[in-house]
Amino acid sequence: MNALAQARRETIPQPQGAETIISTEELTKTYHTGEVEVHALRGVDLQVARGEMVAIMGPSGCGKSTLLNCLSGIDRPTAGNVIVEGQDIYKLRDGVRTDFRAKRMGFIFQFFNLLPVLSAVENVEMPLLIAGVASGKARKRALAELEMLGLASQARKHPLEMSGGQQQRIAIARSLVNDPAIVWCDEPTGNLDSETAEEILNILCRLQREKDQTFIIVTHGAEIGERADRIVQMRDGLIQSEARRDING
Ligand code: ADP
Ligand code: MG
Repeated sequence: MNALAQARRETIPQPQGAETIISTEELTKTYHTGEVEVHALRGVDLQVARGEMVAIMGPSGCGKSTLLNCLSGIDRPTAGNVIVEGQDIYKLRDGVRTDFRAKRMGFIFQFFNLLPVLSAVENVEMPLLIAGVASGKARKRALAELEMLGLASQARKHPLEMSGGQQQRIAIARSLVNDPAIVWCDEPTGNLDSETAEEILNILCRLQREKDQTFIIVTHGAEIGERADRIVQMRDGLIQSEARRDING
């Protein structure tokens, strides 16, 4: 059974009493390129509970990345508010929003986005240094994070000396070193072979369980959908359907 069919078996409402960490209503984003208007988001309603793992799926161009970028404070929506941990994030001044993002959110992308001139440990400690953590302490925490992901021996290597799977684990370490409440992932396994993708997925699921972190994962991969708590299926800038995984299944 594919992920969506499986999830559709049992569609149940958000668990009672779950704390809402992300919420938006009628979220709209229109891009203007020259004469052309692109309606990337056409009124998206979404609520996410703390600790939930949500997979966002749908065909290329349907607005998945735009949704992620609007929800995470990277790209200002044309209309609609985004509330994260009680903050209306686009009402915050730009610098305050950037700071909020740096402290409360982690990001994992398809192409890892590591800085090639820095070693693994330097990449991982970067968010801490930006957040103003003293360098000795930042180094310690970065090394601990690498250790947790089985990468202690790679700390001094540079990204281009590593495999794709190792690079993505470095990127995960970097996104988690600040202990964020929310981790945004845009096609995190899109550039990896299936075995390595499975390994990365196992890491994400373990972190979600152990740390009660909230994961929003844009993906084409049915395997991620199968393991997420909820699948949000998008089409043409709208949520077409939502399905919650059968928690007994
Ligand atoms: P997906 O991630 O689902 O593939 P996107 O969110 O990237 O889709 O894109 C949704 C639509 O918005 C597409 O038609 C895309 O071409 C358009 N789009 C995305 N970003 C921009 C941008 N910065 N400027 C103009 N159009 C954009
Ligand atoms: Mg995309």
